[in-house]
Amino acid sequence: MSNDIRLDAIKSVQNRQNIPLEKVEGKISEFFACNVFGDQAMKTHMAPKVYKKIQQNIAKGKTLDRDLADYIAEAMRNWAMEKGATHYAHWFQPLTGHTAEKHDSFFTLDSSGAAIEKFNGDALVQQEPDGSSFPGGGLRSTFEARGYTAWDPTSPAFIFEVSGEKTLCVPTIFVTYGGQALDYKLPLLKSQSYLEEAAIEVCNLFDEQVNKVHATLGWEQEYFLLDEALYNARPDLIMCDRTLLGKYAPKGQQLDDHYFGSIPERVYAYMRDLENESHKLGIPVRTRHNEVAPCQYELAPIFEEVNVAVDHNQLLMDLMDRIARRHKLRVLLHEKPYAGVNGSGKHNNWSMATDTGVNLLSPGKDPAKNLQFLTFFVSTIKAVHQYADLLRASVTSASNDHRLGANEAPPAIISIFIGETLTRVLNEIEEGTPLNSTGVKEVMKLLGKIPNLEQDNTDRNRTSPFAFTGNKFEIRMAGSTVNCAAPMTVLNMIVGKQLRSFLQDVRIIELDGVSKDQAILTVIKRYITESKAIRFEGDNYSEAWKEEAARRGLNNFVDTPSALDAYLGEKACELFVESRVLSEREIHAHYEVRIENYTLKLQIESRTLAEMAMNQVLPAAVQYQNTLAENVLNLKNLGLGEDAYAAQLDLVQRIAKHINAIKDACYKMKKERDLANELDSRECAIAYCQNVKPLMEVVREHADELEPMIDDRLWALPKYRELLFLR
Ligand code: ADP
Ligand code: MG
Repeated sequence: MSNDIRLDAIKSVQNRQNIPLEKVEGKISEFFACNVFGDQAMKTHMAPKVYKKIQQNIAKGKTLDRDLADYIAEAMRNWAMEKGATHYAHWFQPLTGHTAEKHDSFFTLDSSGAAIEKFNGDALVQQEPDGSSFPGGGLRSTFEARGYTAWDPTSPAFIFEVSGEKTLCVPTIFVTYGGQALDYKLPLLKSQSYLEEAAIEVCNLFDEQVNKVHATLGWEQEYFLLDEALYNARPDLIMCDRTLLGKYAPKGQQLDDHYFGSIPERVYAYMRDLENESHKLGIPVRTRHNEVAPCQYELAPIFEEVNVAVDHNQLLMDLMDRIARRHKLRVLLHEKPYAGVNGSGKHNNWSMATDTGVNLLSPGKDPAKNLQFLTFFVSTIKAVHQYADLLRASVTSASNDHRLGANEAPPAIISIFIGETLTRVLNEIEEGTPLNSTGVKEVMKLLGKIPNLEQDNTDRNRTSPFAFTGNKFEIRMAGSTVNCAAPMTVLNMIVGKQLRSFLQDVRIIELDGVSKDQAILTVIKRYITESKAIRFEGDNYSEAWKEEAARRGLNNFVDTPSALDAYLGEKACELFVESRVLSEREIHAHYEVRIENYTLKLQIESRTLAEMAMNQVLPAAVQYQNTLAENVLNLKNLGLGEDAYAAQLDLVQRIAKHINAIKDACYKMKKERDLANELDSRECAIAYCQNVKPLMEVVREHADELEPMIDDRLWALPKYRELLFLR
């Protein structure tokens, strides 16, 4: 008997018709952000005076009074209903990593019982979704399970469309009754103002005109696509978003023929649809291309203010999934869907920009401004050196463990690559003449000679987890599923802290009566020396670097339970509390959510794998083994010598060995899970990592050896060659 599930799936793929593009009329610039309640929509739906007042309030971070909130809500509803929306929702980002929303209708009954459409300030500003089923890490006990969503006016409301149904979505933060953060957004917003406060003051050393500074983020989203039928035939993809077993196909990415290759037609239609929907929602996606692995792609937008960029990435991940289904495809956002080919990351390009239009990490052309660049540049390096462990922890997860620390790009050791030119500049400042007034002049001359790095952007190191790329830092260790708010919050916070120290350090030196430039350079010089250990220009994959990094005192946390410990340390706690990004209680709660999430992911994977092993792998193996055994008996009965059936007999025995090993490992895995589940959250996660995970690898190893041994028609699970190469 052959296995129908897999073969039917293959047939479905072969018979798949292209799904036509949903036509969008006109140029992108004509429909961009048409579903966003942004500036344009506000102007047409509000009186100019009120519009101005609201803008001023938002810019100053002032709370809106009740009347104003009512007015905005009414304008929003009018706009949304003109666009065909019937419902509204508070849209938020709980610590699950996905977005959540609760829909309510505009429709209601007034006091006389007449049907009306209504949306008032109260409904806009605050809601109480039943929060008890979102992770809270102990911030709420279930009896006081209330979570509240509160409007974030710095990110515009938008209309989300699902099969023709339109909902007005209001971006919100998600907090407990006592105001503690249950989401990624509130800490991000707090880190943003903490950074801004210090950055403005530092800017004012160079330019009095600067009144506002914000962090900028441009993410690059990598993902895999595959046909829905193949996806549905793999329990591991359905349950875990990644393959838990599967023998590498003879061809993977070694020919390098996928990267920047031509995009297959079906995928192209998907990308076009995704881009159109993104553009309508104001997500400025701009570049698309194939990635290194087969069926792997990337999408990147123009960078934006960090809060909006985070929302846009979360929204995009949701869109990616929905639109893939429309095309009978499935998108895999997991960091490592397939063994043996590249995983997916989400590079976070980060910088800071002023309201005077300056990118603070751009060396620019004006030498006099370079001291400002150098200040922000070196302060960032120093901050990362000081808080590398926290940054590492911010991007850790069960799925990202397959990249960081698993011989995959980039490694788990945090280091910074800055390129040859800037290395030379920093070395010259560090080793050059003492910083008296002539020394300062010399350094300024040197700075004047920094070439335009933005144009000459060839100086790259693809192996670094944190790289300076001309006018921004690129955090490469972030994984494809991460909520960008997690690393962005930490980066904003640690740089905010460092800039505060910088100001203090400069002031202390100025007390000696030296010039401002001299004081600044003296501090910069000191920072360069103090943070030197984090800078590394070589090959981050090499064994030699691991040893060198250990000598330099840089940590190498290869798994989530050990990486997450950074949140529990005193150093992190002090910073979170001082910056008000998280209170001590919130840190512990967030840690709890993350560590539990790790355990749950491994638990689900381990259970799914055991089921697949027993339900799909072993039956196929046994069936083939039976055929072989019958064959051996038949040949023996014919009176043929051992030579005639030696090969078959050998296969029977080898299959038996693998069957035994798989069964044993599955039983052991169950036992280890039971033991681990008795422990408290941290110990439990460690037990899953150290005792359960290795057994999953044993199961996989044996299953993957069986796969090529067994009659292809009996194998129940779509194989790598089908998952990665059928289209
Ligand atoms: P790649 O890293 O693939 O070579 P680019 O360097 O062109 O690509 O840009 C990658 C991302 O960096 C894009 O999303 C872009 O918008 C973003 N980016 C460019 N400048 C900045 C900046 N000043 N701040 C934040 N992100 C930026
Ligand atoms: Mg990049």
